[in-house]
Amino acid sequence: PKRILLLGVGKTKDFALSELRHASARAVRAATASKCQSLALVLPATDPVDAERVGEFVAEGVLLAGYQFDKYLSGERKRPTTLTEVRLVTAAATGAALDKGIARGEKIAHGVMQARDLAHEQASELTPRRLADFAAELAKSRGLECEILGPAQCAELGMGCFLGVARGSDEEPRLIHLAYKPKGTPRRRVALVGKTVTFDSGGLSLKTTEGMLEMKYDMGGAATVIGAIGVLCELDCPDEVHVICAATENMPSGRAYKLGDVLRSMAGKTVEINNTDAEGRLTLGDAMTYAVEKIGVDEIIDLATLTGSSMVALGNFTGALFSNSDTLAGRLLEASQQGGDDLWRMPLRDRLFDSLKSDIADMKNSGDRYGGSISAALFLREFIGDKTWAHIDMAGPIHADKDFGHVSKGATGFGVATLVELLSPR
Ligand code: ZN
Ligand code: ZN
Repeated sequence: PKRILLLGVGKTKDFALSELRHASARAVRAATASKCQSLALVLPATDPVDAERVGEFVAEGVLLAGYQFDKYLSGERKRPTTLTEVRLVTAAATGAALDKGIARGEKIAHGVMQARDLAHEQASELTPRRLADFAAELAKSRGLECEILGPAQCAELGMGCFLGVARGSDEEPRLIHLAYKPKGTPRRRVALVGKTVTFDSGGLSLKTTEGMLEMKYDMGGAATVIGAIGVLCELDCPDEVHVICAATENMPSGRAYKLGDVLRSMAGKTVEINNTDAEGRLTLGDAMTYAVEKIGVDEIIDLATLTGSSMVALGNFTGALFSNSDTLAGRLLEASQQGGDDLWRMPLRDRLFDSLKSDIADMKNSGDRYGGSISAALFLREFIGDKTWAHIDMAGPIHADKDFGHVSKGATGFGVATLVELLSPR
């Protein structure tokens, strides 16, 4: 070799195999910066069981490090990397296991990249209708069941909160439901609900320019769950998986929902609006009721770019995890470590629900500034019936300010690898 790269991965006692994702991505970035055409990664010696995971993590790191959303770039900047070949060097005995892992890692990386592409797309292109079209196409190509509901059908179901948010926009809302059913009896039936506000202006509680700048990412939860189901169906996931996305814009207009309005949710609960920018929970509430009443799942996991408060609490790289089940929370934390997404469990403090009390309706949609990510989670909890539930507030990690290992600047695809790890073990 003309160049040799020595890559430090920390202390042996702290090293987890999943860190190979980050390490191999760093190697690819270094090779790209040096305009290398080929790269050979000498992998640590492992037993065959670990070799499969090594293959998976390295494949993900290598592919994700090369990601770029270049659809709107032209000329020089739209240049492919000089790197055309990455070879993995390992003990011959573990080669087959490594290959198996690589195949899995490639599928996961493509799911993550699809989520990144969806989140990166400008809001004027990726409207609720276009996202529904995308979901229908995906369903067709992967053999998933797909149901798309328009506003009239959502009105019939009584989705007053979802439709209340949608009212201010010229773009029609869509409820997107994708389903994957395994062969034989499913281990469990899971709903993945993604926040799908394709653009959040704040509505009449209008955001500032700065606050609105990244609001095309407000459908990041949907990008993640759609990315994940596309992978899960390819990996023979043993669970029945439903993806539900209540897709809408949140816009100000003469028809927009107003402060002081009272919306009636599909679950029958009424909500007084005291902030039209707290719209995500309204759309999610009806989407979760749909999962409870129309599908009848065992478990609900929702992912949402929900609150700035979660970023105040945990910073930009960590998703806030809430759950009514220690078991599900534990499974998600474990999966996130393997998946390379950082999660931290937050408490559901009942006393904070006081800030959501309304004089004229069952509750308000927005509580105190303090503990804002918790009161948002408590709001969602009103819509889960008796189901096992976890909520991931990913307002921070949906987006990265700079490249960091396998995480590229811009939309991150946060959560895809974790959901795949959770629902489709090796
Ligand atoms: Zn908002
Ligand atoms: Zn929002």
